Parts: sequence; structure tokens; C-alpha cells
Amino acid sequence: MSTYGQLLTDGIEQLSGLEYSDAALEAKELMGLAVGKDCRGTEFEELMWQECSESTEQSFFDLVVRRLSGEPLQYIIGEWDFCGLHFKVGRGVLIPRQDTELLIDIAVKLYKNSDSISVIDLCAGTGCIGLTLEQKLRVSELTLIEKYTDAFEYLLENKLALGSSAHIVKGDVTDETLTEQQMQADLIVCNPPYLTAADMGQLQKEVRAEPVEALFGGEDGLDLYRAVTRLWKHKLKEGGALLFEIGASQADEVMQLMIQHGFRDVRVKKDYAGNDRAVIGFRREA
Ligand code: GLN
Repeated sequence: MSTYGQLLTDGIEQLSGLEYSDAALEAKELMGLAVGKDCRGTEFEELMWQECSESTEQSFFDLVVRRLSGEPLQYIIGEWDFCGLHFKVGRGVLIPRQDTELLIDIAVKLYKNSDSISVIDLCAGTGCIGLTLEQKLRVSELTLIEKYTDAFEYLLENKLALGSSAHIVKGDVTDETLTEQQMQADLIVCNPPYLTAADMGQLQKEVRAEPVEALFGGEDGLDLYRAVTRLWKHKLKEGGALLFEIGASQADEVMQLMIQHGFRDVRVKKDYAGNDRAVIGFRREA
């Protein structure tokens, strides 16, 4: 029989073989899942010296094996935090990234004094962008669009869990008919797949477990920016904003594209790691 503390030490040792991971944090998360408690805080310290049952030990090591096989921690846990909210995640949906929180900051700064804004979130995935904005701003109408069935199920679950009144649509954002059916919005946000063919060849193991549809943006990574800018500019109210997440080397091309399509005040914003991460532009007033 082992104590919880010994188990944790063994888990940390095994997980430390993983690249790009904080083994101690991950082991505590997995322990929490096996024990059914949050093992990151002081509550767990009291458990450390106690013996744990064989079944707990077994479930803990089963989880460690899943993690060692390359399954992302977030999928194993089944949810992940984004801007302080919990989003359900699992196979088939992109895991919310901290980098993406930049889009929330930008939108909140822009609209915090607005009484009522309408928002469309394209390629919504978990819904983390649109559903977070609904919590942080006075959003009168919110539409989230997601094409893929697995991701759409998570979107639906997250909408329900957050008590959101958003309108969710299963569809392809490059479909002109679907575009025409949507309302005009003050803000359109989009974190499209933007990795290039070259990027796809060098993905970290964990990212390879995420859906390729949410990652791969065509040979140069820009397919969705072209389609979305062309089709959705008509769905912005005058003065409305189109806000994209971008890959770190895509700022110039995405800005150029938006300028060609008549957007004004097109700007790039950096994320907390200092990489170009978002581009925003506004529809001209007539
Ligand atoms: N930021 C993600 C990554 O680097 C890519 C997500 C996307 O293509 N929108 O893995």
C-alpha cells in the first residue's frame, strides 16, 4: 500500500519525461481526478500521509498512462479555464488557449461602455470567445457558428452550462447562404484555423491530438481569413469591428487583406508573450 504522497511522487517522476509539461502540476491535477478532490491546495496536504486504496492507485496510474501517451491534460480533465470561466473540452474541439484571452481584453476595452452590442463568433469551437464576451459585456445578441459535429456538441454544452442565451448555429462560415441569414453585428470575432502546411509538420504531440480542422488553415494558413473577410464584412454594422486571432507571422498579410477590403484603422496587437496575436479593423461609415 502506498500513501497519496508516494503516489504523487511516482506520478511526477513518470510525467517528467513529457516535453513542455509541468509534471508536478499535472500530477496533482490527475491525482485530483482520481481522488475526486481538488489536489492543488491545502486539503491535499492532509491526505499526503494517508494510505490510499488500490483502486485509487489504479485509477491514478491509468490517468498517468493516458497522459504519457500524448493525450492533452485538458482532454483528460474534461474542462479548462478561459478568462476565469470553465469550458468543457474533449476530443474533437480546440482547447482554449491563454493567448486567445487577448481577444477578450481587446473587445472589453472597446465596448465596456456600450449599453448593447451584437456579437458574432465564427469558428466558435468551445465557444470560449463569444460566451466569455457575453459574460463580460452588455451583449444584446450573440451568435456562435461552428461547423464540426464534435465541436458543436461542446459548444452546446458550454452554452447550457453558462446559462447563455446565445444563438448557436451549426454551419460553415464560408457558406454564402449561411452568411446572408445572419444579423448585422457590432463585432465579429474569429479564431480560425491558421497553421500552415509547414507548421502542421512540426506539431507538438499534444496538439496532434486536437482536431486538424481547428488548426490547419491551408498551405499558407490564410484560407479562412480570405473567406471570412470577403463574406462577413457585409455583416458588420457601419463602424463595426472585425477581430481575428492570427498566427505570429501573419499580421502583415491579414492587415493587408483587411485594408484591401476597405477596413479602416486596421491594427495588430501583441499577446503577453510579445507575439503578434490579433488583428482588428473597422467597417467604414458610409
Ligand atoms: N494557436 C493554436 C496553436 O498554436 C492554433 C489555433 C488556431 O489555428 N486557431 O496550436
